[in-house]
Amino acid sequence: MRILVVPTLFLVCLFSCCLQQKTALPLLHRMPAEFCYVDEIAPEIQADLKYAGNDNFVGRPIAGYEGTRTILRRDAALALRRASQILQRQGYGLMIWDAYRPLRALRDFRAWSYSPDESTQAVFYPRITKQGIYQGHYIGDSSEHTWGIAVDITLYRLQDGKLVDMGGRHDLMDTRSATNSPEVTPQQRANRGILCAAMCAAGFENYPKEWWHYRLANSRPWWAYDFPVRDDLLQDD
Ligand SMILES: [Zn+2]
Repeated sequence: MRILVVPTLFLVCLFSCCLQQKTALPLLHRMPAEFCYVDEIAPEIQADLKYAGNDNFVGRPIAGYEGTRTILRRDAALALRRASQILQRQGYGLMIWDAYRPLRALRDFRAWSYSPDESTQAVFYPRITKQGIYQGHYIGDSSEHTWGIAVDITLYRLQDGKLVDMGGRHDLMDTRSATNSPEVTPQQRANRGILCAAMCAAGFENYPKEWWHYRLANSRPWWAYDFPVRDDLLQDD
């Protein structure tokens, strides 16, 4: 039993120490070694994580989004840096809307789909039902985002910081969001083409139903991960 005495004493001391300082016990969150923060690889890439706030099809922060820094598998982040370098030479920057997505977020989406709330329909799925979101493969119970190799992304102009007009917003679940949709203007389609050319040259491939969604090409999934999106994750060795 002596073996257990020292760790037990340590935990008791740690707990009482935290109580004396009126702080919570430290809760350490970790990120797998194969992942990284995108801002460590390509600090020039901007991020506006839609699922961390209210501006998304659920209308509130999504489970697992507890920070604002974007996370990707390292090979995807390095490819994204190549795309960023190509676009910078053309006067554009990249703006990420979503990258690594924890599995618990998909469960949150599914729970929302069973709820009676339809308050976001006019903005996000104006011409289909909530169940049509799944039937139309805009959202699923598995996602390349949970593997850390997919990004939802758009362009902004380096000159003035304004988002480029792509003919629709993130997660507009509608036929006009198809990358080659004839329902948008030639200029909007051309803008989608600028993003597509750079991303594909850097090693990504587009999901044809969503102009904003790209996955690392020729990459097998390793695992559907579920660690939270936080700004203070410790890296595994
Ligand atoms: Zn996506």
